[in-house]
Amino acid sequence: MSLILPDPFIEQMRRQLQEEADAFFRSYQQPRTHGLRFHMHKLSSTSPSLQKQLVELFDLTPVPWCSTGYYYPEQSRPGKHPLHAAGAYYIQEPSAMSAVELLGPEPGDVILDLAAAPGGKSTHIADKLQGQGLLIANEIHPARAKILSENIERMGIANAIVVCAAPQQLADRFPRFFDKMMIDAPCSGEGMFRKDPNAIHEWSPSHVEMCAARQLDILRAAVTMLKPGGRLAYSTCTFNELENEQTVAALLTGFPNLRLLRTERIWPHRKQGEGHFVAVLAMEPDGEPSTGQDGCSEKAIRDKGAPAKSKRNAKPEQEAMRLFARLADTIGGAGFMAGLQHALGDGEPLLFGDQLYWLPSGPAGSLHPELLRGLKVLRPGLHLAGIKKDRAEPSHALALALRGALAELPPRLALTAGLAERYLRGETLEADGAPNGWTLATLAGLPLGWGKVSGGTFKNHYPKGLRWP
Ligand code: SAM
Repeated sequence: MSLILPDPFIEQMRRQLQEEADAFFRSYQQPRTHGLRFHMHKLSSTSPSLQKQLVELFDLTPVPWCSTGYYYPEQSRPGKHPLHAAGAYYIQEPSAMSAVELLGPEPGDVILDLAAAPGGKSTHIADKLQGQGLLIANEIHPARAKILSENIERMGIANAIVVCAAPQQLADRFPRFFDKMMIDAPCSGEGMFRKDPNAIHEWSPSHVEMCAARQLDILRAAVTMLKPGGRLAYSTCTFNELENEQTVAALLTGFPNLRLLRTERIWPHRKQGEGHFVAVLAMEPDGEPSTGQDGCSEKAIRDKGAPAKSKRNAKPEQEAMRLFARLADTIGGAGFMAGLQHALGDGEPLLFGDQLYWLPSGPAGSLHPELLRGLKVLRPGLHLAGIKKDRAEPSHALALALRGALAELPPRLALTAGLAERYLRGETLEADGAPNGWTLATLAGLPLGWGKVSGGTFKNHYPKGLRWP
């Protein structure tokens, strides 16, 4: 493989890397690396042997800086396996896994992923949250936000809200709100050259400068959303110092309370990965009450001009929840609804048109629904069901969010990998002897989606837009 690199890029990297530059340029003759990350929130609820099977099936070897990350050889093609559709793992470039490891999300944190599509860092953060706490995953570009939302659904994440907003729009309504933030900024993509040679054509010194200016704008808006004592990770997949160390230095000059904790770089000539830069910064605890807690009180919301009353217990929502509870009873018996409510935790039902969601309220009720008003929200928590006139139909997101004992309550059609592929293509399957009604299609204990059994036939309800060709 031989890539033609722009002369100014070669000069820039020679200046930056000095005697290491030749080794760096030689890495462009090597094939790119491929990686995937186990999604433990799902895998930990299945037999431990499944992880071993995945390691053998895809010939996986561990990524040193991420305990759930693995390299795979290109020919393994894990993205084409039905367990990918079940959310067992996320395909992610290995060096990109370092960012969330360094951010260190913990269960119960309130986290913002500001530039989140397609969802590599968001799904990694959600895995570390283990269903506790809250993730707001934001993407400014609508088409990319849709892909992000689909990935949040595929990984069965219930405590995430997917929004499509500019950083300043979020900064205006979430001052000092988040415990942790991920800012995986748009960059000149010098670490993408092996993966996507088009990135080489888009590269120029002026593009690097434009990216650095944009990164600083994004970071300046982001920092205002960090709680005192909070922490943020800034990352890029580019090598130049202007977009990395110098951007961080420029940010620090404007925020005396912000402290640089560490920076890390993964270089393709030193480690097995395409390359990444991560800086971890912390906001000093300043002793003042954080708006992250106070800002969500009824009073604070009134002061911001939003109506004080939540839509909690609004009638249409109550009626939709009644229909959903009836459906849940039919699907999984008396314990299913109670188990679901326990798993989902505090929150409230929310109707988006005829679609019912469970909007998480965040730790200590920090996410007042009014905070989302006027924002473009693609996924306000877990999508539970579609509401028809007098009944509810289970959503695809609900199937994928079921895990452990909860996934064992509905009737299941356990598929082989071959049958799972047929299910994902939308085919009708046989279900001899199975009771009529909503049934979960599963593979290796993980839900793939719903079907409806009638007279020994399993009618496919895998969403049309997601079906395999
Ligand atoms: N974090 C993602 C992941 O791990 O899958 C990758 C994010 S990518 C490096 C950067 C994202 O920033 C892109 O999705 C891009 O659309 C978004 N973006 C572009 N301009 C932006 C801006 N001005 N503010 C915020 N995000 C922006």
